[in-house]
Amino acid sequence: MHRDYYIHPSRLPKNVEGAFYTLGCKSKDGTWWGECLACGAPEDQAPTLLAQWTNECTETYFIRQPETEAEIESACNALEVCCVDALRYGGRDPKILARLNPNLCDNATFISRLKYFFRSRGKK
Ligand code: SF4
Repeated sequence: MHRDYYIHPSRLPKNVEGAFYTLGCKSKDGTWWGECLACGAPEDQAPTLLAQWTNECTETYFIRQPETEAEIESACNALEVCCVDALRYGGRDPKILARLNPNLCDNATFISRLKYFFRSRGKK
């Protein structure tokens, strides 16, 4: 199957197929642990895209990829609230790449970095 997004070696397998994902760690016995701990901030930003916290689910991962402009914005906001960059974008959409901090993107280009730079300067 052709995928037009980067598969990060530490991508948590629970993430649904697609460009937005979260990171995890694999222990020696093959068990995966989500890198994202328990602050709940990303889930607040994208409640329909990320798994909701329950007693059984204490990891952050994408259950659905964004489809609309509003959902893409929610997903980007979820990535940006994490202070350890545990949520990432592996796609190549130029608009999303220009929207997000390049540190969160696997396919950031010189142009997208430049656009992000000027965009973030414009916010100040
Ligand atoms: S800071 Fe980031 S990694 Fe830590 S719990 Fe919050 S969202 Fe998850």
